[in-house]
Amino acid sequence: MNHFDYRDGVLHAEEVSVATIAAEVGTPVYIYSTATLLRHFQVFAEAVPEGSLVAYAVKANGNLAVIRTLAEAGAGADVVSQGELRRALAGGVSPDKIVFSGVGKTAEELSYALEQGIFSINVESEPELEALSVIAASKGVTASIAIRVNPDVDARTHAKISTGKGENKFGVPIDRMPDLAKRCAELPGISLKGIAVHIGSQITDLGPLEAAYGRVFDMCETLRAAGHAVERADLGGGLGVPYVMNAPHPPLPSDYGQMVRRISAGKNLRLVFEPGRLIVANAGILVSRAVYVKHGASRDFLVLDAGMNDLIRPAMYDAHHDVIPVMNAGRTEQAYDVVGPVCETGDTFARGRVLPGFEAGDLAAILSAGAYGSAQASEYNARPLVPEVLVNGKDWSVIRARPTYEEMLARDRLPTWLS
Ligand SMILES: *Cc1c(COP(=O)(O)O)cnc(C)c1O
Repeated sequence: MNHFDYRDGVLHAEEVSVATIAAEVGTPVYIYSTATLLRHFQVFAEAVPEGSLVAYAVKANGNLAVIRTLAEAGAGADVVSQGELRRALAGGVSPDKIVFSGVGKTAEELSYALEQGIFSINVESEPELEALSVIAASKGVTASIAIRVNPDVDARTHAKISTGKGENKFGVPIDRMPDLAKRCAELPGISLKGIAVHIGSQITDLGPLEAAYGRVFDMCETLRAAGHAVERADLGGGLGVPYVMNAPHPPLPSDYGQMVRRISAGKNLRLVFEPGRLIVANAGILVSRAVYVKHGASRDFLVLDAGMNDLIRPAMYDAHHDVIPVMNAGRTEQAYDVVGPVCETGDTFARGRVLPGFEAGDLAAILSAGAYGSAQASEYNARPLVPEVLVNGKDWSVIRARPTYEEMLARDRLPTWLS
């Protein structure tokens, strides 16, 4: 469920006309709904067992206002870099609700995380474990850690966002866990609290998740039997969201929560979850203006002022996004290739998409764009980074401004021999 609806034929975000925001801020622009963010967080938090930590995966959308909105609702944060850790802290997430994941944490990042006293560093390899021990011991602190295991489960999602197969770079093979737990007990500065797993993103089948979690819970018992005080299991994120309005929907958070409750019952483990996409994807839209409607040799192109640099998901993951007009004028439908202005054929949002007729100057909304949209935006083709707006009831605010061309140019420096 989300809060983007037509009112008198004009798309609104909560109580605010999308056309008004587009006119005042310009296009392209991301627009997020506070009510949708909060609803998604609450539905998920209520679905999972009481006492769990729900750590929002900041990489899905790292805007400070988004983080702050969720932090005020009680969310923790799952971060994958020092930059994200700093964002989570600046957004008001308490350190004791922050989980640090990632295969390549540098010594500097580990050191910073230890100084902040975060809830968990999720270690992804034996060399990282050894490095963390040295750093923690030198600081005279104990790192509270989980080890991320690779359960060798196929998440049955797009290959680029599948992370739990044996061949993927993430985590340590799960059967290494007993040896690693022993090593943790020997190492100074390390306190092993649990096991973490995250098998991929946009997962639309609960089977692989259940299989991975079963392996994690079994391993927790094995470790306990060997005398290790395992107290928590971090089950990661990855639950899929609906991207196509009129198609069968992926399992609901309540279905997922029921599965988790069933298989975790009696395990006496505190659970941690790291949802990203589920919270923000359908809480955001990308609004764009049609620059031209172009009649090609064999097809019609709807040329937008948003491009793959603003939203790369179609180009990178073959992702589907619904596209709708901001003004619902009931025009006759026709098929378009919806494209951006970037000089790449991959700069295509949709092929042969049947839409109400568009004219140059009309506004289009690309839906389900809140996750991995602005977070992956770039200035490719020297296009200004797309701005972001947050709506809250009747209020709205620019939460990241579009840079000016002067600001963009001023970031470069000419070396002395060229100036
Ligand atoms: C990306 C990521 C997530 C969030 O994944 P979603 O599919 O957005 O829920 C959670 N945990 C880790 C470790 C990740 O890398």
